[in-house]
Amino acid sequence: MSIVETLRSIVPEDQLSTGRDHLRVASVDESTLTPVTPLAVVWAADPDEIVTIVRACIEIGTPITTRGAGSALEGSTIPLENGIVLDLSRMAAIKNLWPEDLQVEVEPGIIFDDLNLRLKNEGLFFPPSPGGSGDIATIGGMVSTNASGIYSVKYGGTRDYVLALDIVTGEGEAMTIGNRAIKRSSGYNLVDLVAGSEGTLGIVTSVTLKLAGIPEDRRQSAFVFKSEIQTAQAVSEMCRYGLDIAAVEFLDRHLVKALNRLKDYGLEEAPMLFLEFHGPTPVLDSNEEMAASICEELDAQPLVLAEGHRPWEIRHWATDAIKHYRPGLSILRNDVAFPISRLPDMVAYCHELGDKHKLPMFTFGHVGMGLLHALMLADRENPADWQKAENVNRLIIERTVEIGGTVSGEHGIGLGHKDQFELEHGASVELMRKIKRQFDPHGILNPGKIFDL
Ligand SMILES: Cc1cc2nc3c(=O)[nH]c(=O)nc-3n(C[C@H](O)[C@H](O)[C@H](O)COP(=O)(O)OP(=O)(O)OC[C@H]3O[C@@H](n4cnc5c(N)ncnc54)[C@H](O)[C@@H]3O)c2cc1C
Repeated sequence: MSIVETLRSIVPEDQLSTGRDHLRVASVDESTLTPVTPLAVVWAADPDEIVTIVRACIEIGTPITTRGAGSALEGSTIPLENGIVLDLSRMAAIKNLWPEDLQVEVEPGIIFDDLNLRLKNEGLFFPPSPGGSGDIATIGGMVSTNASGIYSVKYGGTRDYVLALDIVTGEGEAMTIGNRAIKRSSGYNLVDLVAGSEGTLGIVTSVTLKLAGIPEDRRQSAFVFKSEIQTAQAVSEMCRYGLDIAAVEFLDRHLVKALNRLKDYGLEEAPMLFLEFHGPTPVLDSNEEMAASICEELDAQPLVLAEGHRPWEIRHWATDAIKHYRPGLSILRNDVAFPISRLPDMVAYCHELGDKHKLPMFTFGHVGMGLLHALMLADRENPADWQKAENVNRLIIERTVEIGGTVSGEHGIGLGHKDQFELEHGASVELMRKIKRQFDPHGILNPGKIFDL
C-alpha cells in the first residue's frame, strides 16, 4: 500500500488531503526558498493518531515534516517531495491552566496571540512574542524554532519557558520529557534539546509552559542619534547600568529613509533607538530617566513626531518599508547575533558590503540581545544579482562567527542557513548527527533540515 492509502486507513476523510490547493499551502513557509510539493497533508487530532502515523511512515520510509502555521523564515517547514506534511494546527486546546503556579499546558497548534488572550483573564502572559507573526505562529512552531522577539531582552526566548514536552520520537514512541518543577538538577536536559530542533528530533504533541505576570504598566520612548557608534554605546551603557529594559530596538539611517518613503514621516535620516520598560510607576520613572540621561550624554535627542503618531508605530512598519523601497526586488535576510559591543562595526560592515556590491542594505534588530537583522534587496529573477546577495549574506555571517556570534539568533537554520551551520559549530555537528540518530534512527523526521546526516 502507498503511504496515502495507508493514511486513509488511519485518519477520517476530513483529516487527509491530496488536493492541489492544500498541497500548495503545505509546500512553502514564509521564506523565499523554492517550494516543494508533498504527497499529502494530514491534520492530526491526537497523540495516539500521531504514533500510528509515524509507525506507518517508518514502515514505508516516508519523511514527515510537522507544520504549525508555516510562518518560519528559513525553510524549516518546507517538506520533501516523497514526504507528508503533518499539520498540527487543529490540536489547539488549552489542556490545563494553573494560575497559582504561573503554568499552562497546551496542545501545540494553539496560536501565540490566542493563548495570551486567554491568559489575560488571569493577569498572566507568555512573553516571547514572535513580533509580526504573533497572530499566526503556533506554540509548537515557536518551541521548535526557539522563537524570540522584542521582549526577549527582559524575558528570554521560548526555550526559557518550556518546562515539559510530550513528544513522539522517530521510532514512533510517545513520551513526556521534563516536568513542572521550575528548577531541576536531574539528568540530561532533553527539553532544551528538542526545543529549537526544528522538528528533527520529535513531534511535539503537548507543551507545558512557565508564564509571567502582566506588568503593572509599560512605557515607551524613542531617541535619534548622530551615529550608529553612539547608538550602540547607549545600548551597552544601559545594560552595564543594569537598566530593566523590556525592549530596545535599533533602526539604522537607511531604514529610516525607507520609512519616510513609505509613510511620509519626515524623520531625520539618522539611527534610532526605541525603548520600552515594564513595571510599577516608580520603576518606570527611574528607568526612563536613566535611559534618557544616557542617550542625551551620547548626543541623542528624543524622537518627536507629528500629532497623531506614536514613536513605536514606526518600528512596526520596518519590514514593509524595506519591501516597498524598490518594487520588483525581493528581500534576502539574516538574523545574526553577537556580543553587543560589536554592533557599530557590524552595522558598518553590512553597509560597506551593500555599497560595494550595489545592494540596498538595511540593518535593525533587538540589539539588547545583540541581535541584528541585515536585510538586502536583490532581483530574484536575475540569478547573478541574487547570487551576489547570497554571497554578501554569507560574508556577514562569516564575520559574525569570527567575532563569536551565531548564524541564527532567532529564526533557526532550516534550509536557508544550512551551508553556514558548520562554520559556527565545527566538529560538534558530528555529535549532533549522533543525537539525531538516537531520536530518529530511520531518518524520517524533517530530514535534510539544519544539517545532512
Ligand atoms: C512577519 C513575520 C515576523 C516574524 N517575526 C519573528 C520574530 O520576531 N521572532 C521569531 O523568532 N520568529 C519570527 N518569525 C518566524 C516565525 O513566525 C517563527 O519561527 C514561529 O515560531 C514559527 O511558528 P509556526 O507555527 O509558523 O511554525 P512552522 O513554520 O509551522 O514550523 C517551524 C518549524 O517547527 C517545526 N514544528 C512546528 N510545529 C511542530 C511540532 N508540534 N513538533 C515538532 N516540530 C514542529 C516545523 O517542522 C518547522 O521546522 C516571523 C515570521 C513572520 C512571517
